[in-house]
Amino acid sequence: MKLDIIIGFVVGVFAFLMVLGYNVFPIGLLLVAAYLVWTLVLSRQILKNGNGVSIATTAIDFEDIGGQSVAKKELQEALDFLLHSDRMKALGIRPLKGILLSGPTGTGKTLLAKAAARYTDSAFLSVSGSEFVEMYAGVGAERVRGLFRRAREMVRKEKKTSAIIFIDEMDILGAKRGSNVSHHEYDQTLNQLLVEMDGLKAEQGPPILVMGATNRPEALDVALLRPGRFDRQVKVDLPDKEGRVAILKIHTKNKPLAQEVILEDIAHETFGFSGAHLESLTNEAAILALRDEVSEITAHHLHEAVEKVMLGEKLDRKPTAEELRRVAIHESGHALLAEMVRPNSVSQVSIRSRGNALGYVRHYPKDDLYLYTQAMLEEQIMVALAGALAEEEILGTRSTGAAGDYEQALNLVERMLISGMSSLGVTDVSRLNAEQRQSVTKDILAELEERTKTILLKNKPLLIKITEILGEEETLSGDNLRMYLLNVA
Ligand code: ATP
Repeated sequence: MKLDIIIGFVVGVFAFLMVLGYNVFPIGLLLVAAYLVWTLVLSRQILKNGNGVSIATTAIDFEDIGGQSVAKKELQEALDFLLHSDRMKALGIRPLKGILLSGPTGTGKTLLAKAAARYTDSAFLSVSGSEFVEMYAGVGAERVRGLFRRAREMVRKEKKTSAIIFIDEMDILGAKRGSNVSHHEYDQTLNQLLVEMDGLKAEQGPPILVMGATNRPEALDVALLRPGRFDRQVKVDLPDKEGRVAILKIHTKNKPLAQEVILEDIAHETFGFSGAHLESLTNEAAILALRDEVSEITAHHLHEAVEKVMLGEKLDRKPTAEELRRVAIHESGHALLAEMVRPNSVSQVSIRSRGNALGYVRHYPKDDLYLYTQAMLEEQIMVALAGALAEEEILGTRSTGAAGDYEQALNLVERMLISGMSSLGVTDVSRLNAEQRQSVTKDILAELEERTKTILLKNKPLLIKITEILGEEETLSGDNLRMYLLNVA
């Protein structure tokens, strides 16, 4: 970017001198020549410094990857093409050239690629899409050529029969052509990858399999997904509960767990966590055990670690007494409403600052849910609105603490619109203008606000009581909250 500014400035100065009548042609020519030589030297240097390729010695097996049974099965089936290439050749089956792993970040795509290399006993090269992107023309394309050259060399040197090239962040290297306005360098690089993949013929040297990973498969150029290139796509999704248990087992294998620890409970609490989150959770739990100077990781450490990964580190900042009371009212509002509309759903409520939150309520997901009914979405919106409405009910005013809740409520309303659950029925939401959108959103929120207010008003003594208890105890488990609710009622 800086270079762009300098070039722009020099061109500007030259234009100005020309307007003044100076003959700048010879100096200009000299500068252009110097620039070309400089970029050439630099690009050679970049290429010499290893192409940004990392060669990983891979000690990862498929057994080291928790969950992902569908992805593993699909991948292994595809890899059998590589393992039995002679049989494939005899039947005239063209070699498999590319597998695309797509899914959210931290779900184990890199692990799968490493395990694939071990499963097929292939040489393994790993590179990130962003490492191909240089502003110097031709460098990216040359890097792609170098990568394939290197893979062939590695097969020879390591005496393997095949190679796997893993390209992470595939969407940077393989974005739809023409989508990067600034330069054609991206397109040239992608073209070169397509050329190299087309050149991967069974009879030309050792089999090379390209494995790409992306969390934005929709951004990829269609040419990449054409048969004969990345013709296998494997989805690597967030793990379900069973998968989370398996991942937790893998990452606690080398950690001393107290006997009372039930990993299924932790898996139950961690809906939406990726493998990377779960790995971090087990690590944080071990750090908490170290801080407590104990030799075993207890259930308490693991529960604390879930919160830390979810919400960030506990903070020592002290809100004023007035703020604390407001936070207690706000969180009690959320918790009370949650228990009213979905009994037994609160796992914890706290007014201790964590990360960006002054307080929080954590909910148990009943089970891993992939579908939501209108009633469920409405309940979630009501729970989100209840914090601000409780403040209004007791203190007479709302506060800025509800901004995140409104964002959540608006996202849920958007889901209702898209799913045809608004007064507009099934509609193409992208064709609604801002006014129509605003009007229908306002109607939904107004109705749900009314319903929430009615519940809070009817249970005001409970709300006040829970606020007081929370103010004293700072944190309440879901079970304690329910006990107090029963006793007061
Ligand atoms: P990104 O898209 O951000 O590159 P990724 O999908 O490639 O992420 P990995 O790099 O494979 O994710 O995973 C990161 C770390 O998370 C791993 O080193 C491992 O510790 C843990 N992890 C992720 N998924 C799993 C899993 N299924 N089983 C065990 N550990 C996992």
